[in-house]
Amino acid sequence: MTTTRFAPSPTGRLHVGNIRTALHNWMLAQIAGGEFILRIDDTDAARSKEEYVDAIRADLAWLGIEAAREERQSTRLDLYQSAFDTLREAGRIYPAYETQQELELKRKVLLGRGLPPIYDRGALEMSDEERAAKEAEGIQPHWRFKLDHAEQIAWTDGVRGPAKFDPALLSDPVIRRANGSWLYMLPSTVDDIDMGVTQVLRGEDHVSNTAVQIQMFTALGATPPEFAHEALLVGTEGKLSKRLGSLGCDSFRERGIEPEAIIALLARLGTSLPVEPIADRAALLESFDLSTFGRAPAKFDDADLDRVNTAIVHAMEYDAVKPRLPDGMDEAGWHAVRPNIAAIPEVGEWWRLVTGPIDNLEFTDEDRAFLGQAAGALSAAFASGDAPWAALTSALKEATGRKGKALFLPLRQALTGMNHGPDMGELLPLIGEEVARRRLDRVAG
Ligand code: GLU
Repeated sequence: MTTTRFAPSPTGRLHVGNIRTALHNWMLAQIAGGEFILRIDDTDAARSKEEYVDAIRADLAWLGIEAAREERQSTRLDLYQSAFDTLREAGRIYPAYETQQELELKRKVLLGRGLPPIYDRGALEMSDEERAAKEAEGIQPHWRFKLDHAEQIAWTDGVRGPAKFDPALLSDPVIRRANGSWLYMLPSTVDDIDMGVTQVLRGEDHVSNTAVQIQMFTALGATPPEFAHEALLVGTEGKLSKRLGSLGCDSFRERGIEPEAIIALLARLGTSLPVEPIADRAALLESFDLSTFGRAPAKFDDADLDRVNTAIVHAMEYDAVKPRLPDGMDEAGWHAVRPNIAAIPEVGEWWRLVTGPIDNLEFTDEDRAFLGQAAGALSAAFASGDAPWAALTSALKEATGRKGKALFLPLRQALTGMNHGPDMGELLPLIGEEVARRRLDRVAG
């Protein structure tokens, strides 16, 4: 069975990049009939916050990205300890005593010589006495995973194709801090094994982590899952990080972006498939395929999101939007207003043209006389059937010889207080005869 996971650290709100990773993992599980797990990576007690855990859940629920179950790393510390013990016994974990400053200095020296800043394994050279001396000074060790330099690392990446790493060119990663708390690397591997994760899809900033973790899987006697790393998202002006705050669900929701628009865009952004306003998830799932993912950074553009959103809103049926419409707005109202909006919150602006109050515009004497004639022709137009606007305008055209803009614009202005807006044929029956007469009488000469 396919099992995927989305593993956010609850140290902030989800942004469009995280949402994309969550979505793709959910999709991978859906197309395989498998399971998608939400794993909260909250081993960093100082930075993890419960409010972010709640927000992550709420955002995923709003997006309709449903997890089969939720796991939390903070409740699984015993498992990490036991993996730690196993690896330590096998000689794959060792204590190290360098301070941040010492490590920084080592890095600088190497970089200064034009060498890659790889950890020199100085801690492995220490004798028992030297270690004892450090601890006598009150210095607790942090812990590193010892990469096996004899074991070349290779995998077939679901997006990037064949990937290779020489472990000698990587630093042995620190996996545990001196205070006993865990860094990301080992708990994630332990969980992927324990939860039976079969596919790990994440951003390409994790590629070198994958190289290290592949050795951890093997060292723990497990077969590594399949890995895929997607190219990162960039904004129209480069890195997204500057405006991440504005790229979360709260701000999308405030702007009236539909979850389905986010899903439609993110499902295909960076793939060779066209971004289309597809609100039907089954259709998106059908075409979802890692082999369509490109290696170039995918460009996230708010204008694309707005475009997809508008098209999705224009295709939305009344029943789907009903609870979000102004009181009293019926299906005909929705159909009249729908083509004029880019997002649902704009509905109210247009619905006001029906319910009033509307703006008072200025008219010439000539137009006022014409509008008086229109008021007189109203009852016949409404009595003629269910197309009062067509009846009204053709009667007035015949009676006055007006046509085009001279015929239509003063009527629209008097009836709605605006120069443009929804189709008058749909609007006039909603305004109704009585209100229409009042609006015409008010401005008529
Ligand atoms: N908590 C890690 C992160 O947010 C998870 C990475 C992973 O998918 O393994 O980067």
